[in-house]
Amino acid sequence: MRVPQMQPFVGQEEYEAIKDCFDTNWLTEGPKCKEFVRRLCDVVGVNYGVLAPNCTLGLFLGLKAMGIGPGDEVIVPNFTFIASATSVILTGATPVFVDINKEDLQINIDDCKRIITEKTKAIMPVHMYGASCNMTELVEFANKHELLIIEDAAQAIGVNWEGKPCGSFGAVSCFSFFADKSITTIEGGFIGTNDEKIYESLRYLRNHGRISSGTFIHPELGFNFRMNDVSAAIGLVQLDKAVYIFSKRLELHKTYCRELESRSEIKIFTHPKGSNFVPFRFSILYDGDREALSNYLTESGIEPRTFFYPLHRQPAFEFLQNTQSLNDELFTNSVYAYEKGLCFPVYPELSEEQVVYTCDKIKEFLDAI
Ligand SMILES: *Cc1c(COP(=O)(O)O)cnc(C)c1O
Repeated sequence: MRVPQMQPFVGQEEYEAIKDCFDTNWLTEGPKCKEFVRRLCDVVGVNYGVLAPNCTLGLFLGLKAMGIGPGDEVIVPNFTFIASATSVILTGATPVFVDINKEDLQINIDDCKRIITEKTKAIMPVHMYGASCNMTELVEFANKHELLIIEDAAQAIGVNWEGKPCGSFGAVSCFSFFADKSITTIEGGFIGTNDEKIYESLRYLRNHGRISSGTFIHPELGFNFRMNDVSAAIGLVQLDKAVYIFSKRLELHKTYCRELESRSEIKIFTHPKGSNFVPFRFSILYDGDREALSNYLTESGIEPRTFFYPLHRQPAFEFLQNTQSLNDELFTNSVYAYEKGLCFPVYPELSEEQVVYTCDKIKEFLDAI
């Protein structure tokens, strides 16, 4: 049996929706994009939103619209996809890294106190693996230090904190529709905000410094961060399937849990109390020889993934050493998670049999030790 790490969940309905774009000959931003934005605003619980080519550029644009730039510092957890931090660098500002919580892999708010300076302007909670950060504590911390919040909600569509959707807490929030996220447009992103001024700024920035296309007078500086109706058509169908997708992911996650919960060698990550759960992966920590386990599974046709490589160790970020301490001792939880973590897929096309097979192989490995 083979268990691929990733498999996009698109089918006949998405195909029909694309065909509709071709039949009407509306391919660039048009009615589908408009409808997609309206639906996303509802789901995310924000008043305004714009689409972006992907979440990485969405974060960059969101930071720009918040006024973040050279000389500013933005707090970023060091256990996340690299784009959380590169988007900050693209604005000319500096990402300053903090550790995560050992028990839930979310940003460690206590650690933020260590690196607050006059220059700290914003904080970027990253809702990790389909669960929410503790937004009660985070909002309190941000208010106390007068920081703007930009939520990296790339993995958090459908996720909420105490019933309030992720993406509705920050000045800005960004979602990803890359092929391995819960809802996909193949590539794509969404930027949400409740701030009318930020919304205005986003509209100028994303469309060459003008509000409407078709004019060649550009009142402001801007770029091209538009999406297209073909992608939005796929996204609309995916939103129609969202309830199914979310429940299927949860169901597969429960099967993994049921099969492995009796194994004390393995710690299973779920979600902090206060958050619901739309599993992004089935994530575990194995305190033993993680490499040996991973190799054993790979030889059995399974494709496990490690967790994120801590950002303070990234070769690409070596230059940040000049202005901040990036020693392993400051980031023990993310280093531990990286060294001991493994992820397994929960995409809707994955079968119960594949999950059980994966768990059997994990148990086989553990029993042989
Ligand atoms: C996927 C991801 C991104 C980047 O999203 P893209 O749409 O691929 O640019 C950013 N942050 C996190 C946490 C992600 O998982």
